[in-house]
Amino acid sequence: MPRIFSGIQPSGDLHIGNYLGAVKNWVTLQDQFESIICIVDLHAITQPYQPGELPQRTLDMATGLLAAGINPDKTILFVQSQVPQHAELQWLLNTVTPLGELERMTQFKDKSSRQESIPAGLLNYPILQAADILLYKADRVPVGEDQVQHLELAREIARRFNARFGVECFPEPKPMLTAAARIVGLDGQAKMSKSLGNTIGLLDSPDVIWGKLRPAMTDPARTTKKDPGNPDVCNIYSLHQYFSTGEQVSMVAEKCRTAGWGCLDCKRVLADNMIAALAPIRERAEALKQHPEEVRAVLARGAERCRALAEETLGEVRRIMGFLPPGP
Ligand code: SF4
Repeated sequence: MPRIFSGIQPSGDLHIGNYLGAVKNWVTLQDQFESIICIVDLHAITQPYQPGELPQRTLDMATGLLAAGINPDKTILFVQSQVPQHAELQWLLNTVTPLGELERMTQFKDKSSRQESIPAGLLNYPILQAADILLYKADRVPVGEDQVQHLELAREIARRFNARFGVECFPEPKPMLTAAARIVGLDGQAKMSKSLGNTIGLLDSPDVIWGKLRPAMTDPARTTKKDPGNPDVCNIYSLHQYFSTGEQVSMVAEKCRTAGWGCLDCKRVLADNMIAALAPIRERAEALKQHPEEVRAVLARGAERCRALAEETLGEVRRIMGFLPPGP
């Protein structure tokens, strides 16, 4: 089977933006591809963070992924820092990556503009991403729009390495664009993101889900129940499309346009559907949280398998680059 590689930050519990935008797709793809999913803690440390919180955030992310349907018998799930070959390959690829390409990355410009002191790791972040993918010679990489530029750079790095050493070592990984790539947050403004506080957690309780949906942004034209609205500008309507039936989605649009109901009625239907859809995931996560040692065992097995795969590639790369092998 062709191989796919995906990464996700250890941001703790998953939210519905991660789930609909990426994880749900990975669950489907694991039946069609040899799947590798990496919790990218080495990437996470390029932003300000609390070291004391990182282990739990990493474990919570693994728990959420397994609860959401990632099956460790089909997917290799592991933590990036437990496979040191990622960092080694990144260093080697540093030497064929042009500085100008890194400086023009949109994410680097965005993130560096928000930090007083810019760590070199933030600039080199896309090289580590390239190393993640190329280490496993992945054929395809499921990505959202915001990662296409980084993947293009990974392809460029693969081409440059092959050309510099006159080999066909790295295949160029191809993007696999995710249909629901951008889930907007409850503020109705920006992409759903934990750092913006505009998320619904995948494991939130029914009360918490309702507590977050109630005040969520809707069509600002609906200042009273009597004002007709436009569902096309309302994020609640977008969310209905992921959680409600086709019939309900049509009803929502009609009642919105004709002021046939209030926004709270509309949100209540969404909340009920969302709570029902997420209940099995929440139950699985609660069961897994009772046995964190099982989650850690999955990660340990995943890291062991990845170290073996990664070492094969890295052995080849070391030979190509001319390093003296250890031993007498
Ligand atoms: S009725 Fe529903 S779709 Fe229309 S503005 Fe209110 S929340 Fe949005």
